[in-house]
Amino acid sequence: MQEAMIKRAKELLADGSVDRVIGWKRGEFTYDITPAVFTSAEELDRDFVCDEFTAANVSKYLVKETQKEGRVLAFLKPCDTYSFNQLVKEHRIDREKVYVIGIEGGPKLDIEKIKAKGITGILSVKNEDYTLKIETVYGTQTMPFYEAVLGKCASCKSKKHVVFDELIGEDGDVLDSNRFEMVEKLENMSAQERFDFWRDQLSKCIRCNACRNVCPACTCENCVFDNPKSGIDNKAPADSFEENMFHIIRAFHVAGRCTDCGECSRVCPQHIPLHLLNRKFIKDINELYGEYQAGADTTSRAPLTDYTKDDCEPSVVHERGVE
Ligand code: SF4
Ligand code: SF4
Ligand code: SF4
Repeated sequence: MQEAMIKRAKELLADGSVDRVIGWKRGEFTYDITPAVFTSAEELDRDFVCDEFTAANVSKYLVKETQKEGRVLAFLKPCDTYSFNQLVKEHRIDREKVYVIGIEGGPKLDIEKIKAKGITGILSVKNEDYTLKIETVYGTQTMPFYEAVLGKCASCKSKKHVVFDELIGEDGDVLDSNRFEMVEKLENMSAQERFDFWRDQLSKCIRCNACRNVCPACTCENCVFDNPKSGIDNKAPADSFEENMFHIIRAFHVAGRCTDCGECSRVCPQHIPLHLLNRKFIKDINELYGEYQAGADTTSRAPLTDYTKDDCEPSVVHERGVE
């Protein structure tokens, strides 16, 4: 697929359809893939990459890219198209300035799951018939592909692109995923067990802001957490209150807009399962207001920014019996 993507990007640059391309390039390590903008065929040939580690969602970068002159080509996986649509709906991306090529999605790989097997000094990772062949400075190692699948891909909600101008590869279907399984487990815990679970997780937060910075729903020009008058701007949490507050406020801010793209958990250096917090909100919104998938379209009104006479009353929430 990588070759077809480079070929098509070069064609669109050459005929003037687009002025630049947003995709991915390799960093210092073979698995260290990062979003990048390309403006020439030479750059594409030299640096463009799309492989099992190309997990980053480039939608959020289009907010800044579409504020510039010219048109940009974006390669979007199915999950990324939901974020893209949501940003178009929120008038954060100028749709006219983007040419979207839908590409096949994952499953993508999580290098941390490979390293957790004690495999270090990694030089390259190849997928051979769903067995990973990992070349290291100490020799060759193997492990089953599915043991290294990225968390967000393991509970993929959809292989269907909700927006594209053209496709490379096949479009898929919305999946009946298992994504609420862990949320249900948390719901079945006692209040104390749940509190202990989240304290255990959130106490690991170093407030690096990576989750907020990568989140396509967090595109505010001035984020409350950067306010110098708040006393909590850009610093490590001082106590458990500050640890909880950052995450609870962020979860409320993205409620009804979070597309469940899984990027927050993917980038967290402390491996905190942040998506579970957002998924709980998604599950509650589905149950209280009817099924709703943020980013599935660009026109529907989100339950939390809409009013209907059938809206859920506070008493209904109370009756659900919060322990
Ligand atoms: S990415 Fe992880 S460590 Fe960094 S602020 Fe978010 S939760 Fe905390
Ligand atoms: S909160 Fe996490 S899952 Fe939701 S849109 Fe932001 S990065 Fe994606
Ligand atoms: S945390 Fe809230 S204020 Fe900050 S960027 Fe996200 S949505 Fe905006």
